[in-house]
Amino acid sequence: MTMESNNRSVTIEFEGSREKARGSVWKSMLNGMRCRCPRCGTAELYQNYLKVVDECPSCDLELHHQRADDAPPYFTMFIVGHILVPLVFLVEVNWQPAWWVHLALWGPMAVVLSLWLLPIVKGAIIAIQWKMGMHGFGGEDGNDQDATHLERERH
Ligand SMILES: [Zn+2]
Repeated sequence: MTMESNNRSVTIEFEGSREKARGSVWKSMLNGMRCRCPRCGTAELYQNYLKVVDECPSCDLELHHQRADDAPPYFTMFIVGHILVPLVFLVEVNWQPAWWVHLALWGPMAVVLSLWLLPIVKGAIIAIQWKMGMHGFGGEDGNDQDATHLERERH
């Protein structure tokens, strides 16, 4: 048995079950968009609508580091605008409805779409921040744990 294979077996033992779900940034983002922990993808990311849990109950990932701040509303408005504005033009060009029809259609649709997208977008942003070690996740007890795991994986 080579030394390399010895190291590999040690790495696998050390990694444990909580690291097995850590894949690409896309996998983490997908977990976040499903409103799940970006690392394990099993536990809920929020304790209510947009309030992020301090720590994942499943894999103990500390999530209080997240600094999504106003990025989720910004990207949500960006997405909702790009969905609704073409629809407004489409309806206006084809049917020219009264102004109150536009108001009745797009007002509630903008609100519902935004409220639905906000936790999804926030989950994705938190996942990116965690994966990239951004903001609070780059600290001593944040993503550095994972950086250590990555270092050990490489050897
Ligand atoms: Zn987790």
